[in-house]
Amino acid sequence: MKFNTELLHSGFESDKATGSTLTPIYQVSAFAHESPEVLEKIFNNKAPGFAYSRISNPTVDSFEKRIAALERGIGAVACSSGMAAVTMSLLNILGAGDEIIAGAGLFGGTIDLFGDLQSFGITAHFVSCVCTDEIEPLITEKTKAIFAELIGNPALDIVDIERVSELAHRHGIPLIIDSTTATPYLIHPIEHGADIVVHSSSKYINGSGDAISGIIVDSGNFKWDTERYTGFKEYKKFGKFAYLAKLRNGMWRNVGCCLAPMNAFLNSIGLETMGLRMERLCGNALELAEFLDGIEGIEVNYPALPKSPYYSLAQSLFGGRGGAILTIRAGSKDRAFRLMNNLRLPIIATNIGDVRTLVIHPASTIYTHSSEEQKINAGVYNDTIRISMGIEDIDDLKEDFRQAIDKLKEE
Ligand SMILES: *Cc1c(COP(=O)(O)O)cnc(C)c1O
Repeated sequence: MKFNTELLHSGFESDKATGSTLTPIYQVSAFAHESPEVLEKIFNNKAPGFAYSRISNPTVDSFEKRIAALERGIGAVACSSGMAAVTMSLLNILGAGDEIIAGAGLFGGTIDLFGDLQSFGITAHFVSCVCTDEIEPLITEKTKAIFAELIGNPALDIVDIERVSELAHRHGIPLIIDSTTATPYLIHPIEHGADIVVHSSSKYINGSGDAISGIIVDSGNFKWDTERYTGFKEYKKFGKFAYLAKLRNGMWRNVGCCLAPMNAFLNSIGLETMGLRMERLCGNALELAEFLDGIEGIEVNYPALPKSPYYSLAQSLFGGRGGAILTIRAGSKDRAFRLMNNLRLPIIATNIGDVRTLVIHPASTIYTHSSEEQKINAGVYNDTIRISMGIEDIDDLKEDFRQAIDKLKEE
């Protein structure tokens, strides 16, 4: 199946009981069963079925199966948010004394999370470039995971995933990829060596900015050495499903960061049009990037522009597509603010992956608590504006940016 067909049909079964063309919203907490024997089996993973929506729910289950199929995984676990997915993907394998190696240009929330984990004895080491030269010297016997965003947000740096996964595997360490900004439209990270893939499905999977959610997909490929990952001893019997079984029966269920059925439904609907939206978003982003690149006083960062240092990776990994985010530098914070105030169509909001174009000044918002070094690693300067591309007609956006920039001269 090709991408848009897959979005509709892959991993999807219509509701067997009613024939409903979408999986309905099973907005309940618990599921009744005919006998204690049946419920005992469900509780002990001996029979399929649902018991309690914190543990599993048909609407959520349908969303998980579709994403797992789309991302070439053996299964998926949905979470209440992207941050919950990032957190659970790691806490499923880490304990006190363990270390993570991660890109310094990560999403601000993830950087803050790594700070929080410090008080539980988990240490993150950051690399300014997620590349083998920088990662390898940091690997110790305590290193339990390498974590990276495939396309950094908002640095827009692209990880050479094949080289990094090869290095990780040589050292017996899994590579966890946050593929939120790349989306399955650009790449299936598992096919390039990622062991675990996480998404903030609040963004491009949802697509309309109407529900927060996250999801963890397991490739089933990583061999969990139970000497190194001692928590996996009792899950060895699940074979390649060990990671998912441990997650579902342990940390994820006990923390209680389950996805609400309503939000699973909204994200499943969004998923179906992701191909159409991403095609439009990537086309719009490239056209706006090329347009703005020609304007004096504006510097554009977009991976599909030939001048980008990530141009060749965008060609080889994403077929030349550059994703739906671009950043521009306006020359000063004052000019950046004035430019944003002059825009008529883009909305000033801290989100990405909406159908509307969104702009934000990351230095004064998402990165307001970050050090100067953290900001530079994240590609966040005082004059940076991040543009999350929308599906508007590109001529309207070009005209709007043109007038907003022209006004800078008049003021
Ligand atoms: C938004 C985002 C997150 C966090 O997701 P939420 O759904 O907001 O919790 C994590 N990683 C990346 C790359 C993101 O853009």
